[in-house]
Amino acid sequence: MAARSGEQFLARLAAARVHVEIQGETLTGGVAEHPAFRNVIRTYADLFDLQHDPAYRDVLTYPSPTSGEPVATSFLVPKTPEDLAKRRQASKLWADRSLGMLGRTGDYLNSALMALGAAHDWFAQADPAFGQNIQHYYEKVREEDLLCTHTLVPPQANRAVPASQQAGGALMAHVAREDDNGVVIRGARLLATIGPFADELLVFPSTVLRATPEDQPYSFACAIPNDAPGLRYLAREPLDYGRPRHDHPLGSRFEESDAVVVFDDVHVPYERCFVLGDPDLCNGFYSKTSAVVHMTHQVVARTTAKTEYILGLVSLLTQAIGIEQFQHVQGDIAEVITTLETLRALARAAEADAAPNEFGVLTPAWPPLNTARNLYPRLYQRFPEILRKLGASGLMATPTEADVNGPAAADIETYLQSATLGGKERVRLFRLAWDTCISAFAGRQALYEYYFFGDPVRTASAYVASYDREPYMAAVRAFLDRD
Ligand SMILES: Cc1cc2nc3c(=O)[nH]c(=O)nc-3n(C[C@H](O)[C@H](O)[C@H](O)COP(=O)(O)OP(=O)(O)OC[C@H]3O[C@@H](n4cnc5c(N)ncnc54)[C@H](O)[C@@H]3O)c2cc1C
Repeated sequence: MAARSGEQFLARLAAARVHVEIQGETLTGGVAEHPAFRNVIRTYADLFDLQHDPAYRDVLTYPSPTSGEPVATSFLVPKTPEDLAKRRQASKLWADRSLGMLGRTGDYLNSALMALGAAHDWFAQADPAFGQNIQHYYEKVREEDLLCTHTLVPPQANRAVPASQQAGGALMAHVAREDDNGVVIRGARLLATIGPFADELLVFPSTVLRATPEDQPYSFACAIPNDAPGLRYLAREPLDYGRPRHDHPLGSRFEESDAVVVFDDVHVPYERCFVLGDPDLCNGFYSKTSAVVHMTHQVVARTTAKTEYILGLVSLLTQAIGIEQFQHVQGDIAEVITTLETLRALARAAEADAAPNEFGVLTPAWPPLNTARNLYPRLYQRFPEILRKLGASGLMATPTEADVNGPAAADIETYLQSATLGGKERVRLFRLAWDTCISAFAGRQALYEYYFFGDPVRTASAYVASYDREPYMAAVRAFLDRD
């Protein structure tokens, strides 16, 4: 099969019996019709459709090395600078469609699987079968164009003790037993964005947390069909309230859902296991395979799209109410521009200094991307703050579509007009700003940017630990030793 269309994505979802607990309701299928998920699923279907649109398909797909059929560019194993550029362009194209608000579009984890599949020899060091398993799995996801989510971190019960000691070790998902043809997983993991409507769940090690020898039962990597028996999602309250697009322009399109993952004795056949009982391999999972680099390359394309959106929005807002001439307003706009240009420069530096890794994959330079990974979680927090400061009371002068088209229409047109916009248009713009900086959807976006790629505090520690500072210390020592 080739890159999927939206219809094919929906058809597979319709057949899946995914177990989701949501607001007191138990779903065992039918997520695509559920009000919590149907709008964002429609958005995802539109993204799949773009792969077949003559205007975009050359960027979004390439010929499969096995079938020759077009498959998603995010599976392309980059060998040349043009390949890397194409990967970035494909991610940016999708991200532009969602203003960077969708964190778990397929390209994020496809990028990881591409690098992991190419590094099959690294997996084979524990057992040749694991090398074959990861390679076959990558090819399966590529050829079937499956949508994956992942779950990495232990339940947040007591962070004062290692996860292996929380509730006697029972909470965190672990290999409870092995049988003739696989393992049985029991326990839970935080958190899976798009869990309820993904095709596959990747149960992978954390990108940040280090495993110790005591973590052996918790140290594994495998992939599970989303409707596997015993797998269930505890979804949070949805932030898509079924309101018109005018009223909730972002929440009504891009509300991805996050869910705690419970493994109630989920059987995973060996051919879907990539690491078993090996803390050391889990610690090298992303770095030794370059998976984290390719994931971050995708993330920077997405966050660039998001920052471009913020710059456009802030600029329209400040123009609308005539505040652009104030210096502090320009200072805030300059801050957004600086973030945008920093991301672009880091992506460009990473691609310019790309080199083949030991598995022959052209891999962007890690320090610029690691810098972006460490910067954006903090820099993004300023954007809603800037929008709130500049939008001020206008963010509360935001009647709904029913008002704009109802008895209040004349008042709205007159009293909510702005320097550049009529009342109706100004309300539309400010509702978008509200959904970017105030709504529950906006709050979740800020939390997502801060945490989705790991705790920034520990990401920074990992950065320090991995950065070669010796030349700079030597230079200072040499200066101290000068006459
Ligand atoms: C919206 C959202 C979506 C997400 N989606 C996914 C997903 O799809 N898949 C997935 O696997 N994960 C996902 N995550 C989880 C994400 O990986 C974690 O939030 C992140 O790794 C931090 O872990 P935690 O949330 O358990 O925070 P905790 O580890 O509980 O940290 C809570 C606070 O305590 C501090 N703290 C705790 N322990 C330490 C320590 N040892 N040293 C220093 N400080 C410490 C932290 O700095 C933080 O301030 C998502 C998170 C969010 C918020």
